[in-house]
Amino acid sequence: MTTTHKPLVVITGASSGIGLATARLLSERGHALLLISRRLEPMLQLGLPNSLALSVDITDRQALVAAVAQAEKKFGPVDAIINNAGVMLLGSITSQDPNEWDRMLDVNVRGLLNGIFAVTQGMVARQHGTIINVSSVAGRKAFPNHVAYVGTKFAVTGLSENLREELSPSNVRVITIEPGAVDTELLSHTTDDAIKAGYNDWKQEMGGVLSAETIAEAIGFAYGQPQSVCVREIVVCATRQQP
Ligand code: NDP
Repeated sequence: MTTTHKPLVVITGASSGIGLATARLLSERGHALLLISRRLEPMLQLGLPNSLALSVDITDRQALVAAVAQAEKKFGPVDAIINNAGVMLLGSITSQDPNEWDRMLDVNVRGLLNGIFAVTQGMVARQHGTIINVSSVAGRKAFPNHVAYVGTKFAVTGLSENLREELSPSNVRVITIEPGAVDTELLSHTTDDAIKAGYNDWKQEMGGVLSAETIAEAIGFAYGQPQSVCVREIVVCATRQQP
C-alpha cells in the first residue's frame, strides 16, 4: 500500500480561528489531519482531503484518546498534536462567576493535558514526535480582567517548559506558541459586555490585530523544521500591541 499523505497531525479547536487556519495550512502541505472540536459542521465544511473530523470535548479524556486511536488506525501514527482549543472568559476578580474560572481551567489546562496524554506514550515509544501547545502572550504577562485566563496560560507555558525537558531525551519536540491579540471568535464567549467593548477598543487602538493565518504560519514554520531542531517558543504580537 502506498501512502499518499504526510504524517498525521491532530489539531484541537479546529472549528474556528487559529485551529481552522492551521488545518488549512497543514492540509495544503499534504498532512493527514484529525480535526477536533465540539462543533462538527465547520470542520466538515473545510472539505480537507485525508482528514477525519470528530466532535469531541477535550475535557473528556477517554473520548479524546479514542479519537486519536481512530485516526491512527486510518492514517498511521500521530506525528504532531497542536493543542490549540481554548476559551477566554474575561472578568473582574471581584464579580466574575467562578464557574467561568472552572471552565477555563478545565479546557485550557486539563483539556490540553488530555491532548498531551493522548499522544505522548506513542511518541516516546517511536522516539519521534512534536507537541505544539498554544499558550498566549497572556502566558508571560498580566492584562486587565485576565486573572483566571492568565493563570491558565501561565500554566500552559510552564507545563510546556517542564514537558520539553522530560521529552527531549526521547526526541520529542515541545513548542509553545504565544500569540498576542488575534482576530477570532475567542472574545465572543466573554459574558461581560463592558469588558468586551473595552477589549474591542484596545484592538482598534493598536490599528487592528493579527490574523489567524499569521499564527498558522508561525506554527507551520516551527513544525516544518527538521526533527533535530526545536523552535522552543514563538511570541508574536501586532507591532503596535501594548502591553
Ligand atoms: P476561537 O474561539 O476562534 O477558537 C477556539 C477553538 O477551541 C474552537 O474551535 C472551539 O470549538 C474549540 N474549543 C473550545 N472549547 C472546547 C472544548 N471543550 N473541546 C473541544 N474544543 C473546544 O479562538 P482562537 O482561535 O483565538 O483560540 C485558539 C487558541 O489560541 C486558544 O487556546 C486561545 O487561548 C489562544 N490564543 C488566542 C488569542 C486571540 O487573541 N485570539 C491570543 C492568544 C492565544 P468548539 O466551540 O466547536 O468546541
